[in-house]
Amino acid sequence: MDYNADNVFAKILRGEIPCNKIYEDDHALAFYDINPKAKIHALVICKALLTDYSDFINHADEHEITGFMRAIYKTIEILGVEEDGYRLVFNKGNNGGQEVPHLHAHILGGEKLSTNL
Ligand code: AMP
Repeated sequence: MDYNADNVFAKILRGEIPCNKIYEDDHALAFYDINPKAKIHALVICKALLTDYSDFINHADEHEITGFMRAIYKTIEILGVEEDGYRLVFNKGNNGGQEVPHLHAHILGGEKLSTNL
């Protein structure tokens, strides 16, 4: 699937839409989900224009892959969810329930999460 720059996360990256920022570096921007599904619900979006996890793993270079994965962990540390635990989710495509076609990880925590995925 070709990347479509009209999506809401592309607009956030371009500064056209605000976000409640948690962390930012050269590879990623992390902010709170506007419709939280847990007490703590953060999103980490990749600065590279990639659609989903498959696009990421097939087309990002090693530097981008390492940088994005480390940015996710940095956000986990800032959120303070390391000790009690968290869930890390990448939705992809129709069956995965992906709404926004720009690579992002969900970090969920702050409470005991349902085991119904
Ligand atoms: P996904 O279903 O994996 O594509 O997740 C998209 C997520 O983005 C959903 O959890 C939405 O609540 C969230 N979302 C959509 N628009 C915004 C926004 N402007 N700011 C923060 N989160 C958003």
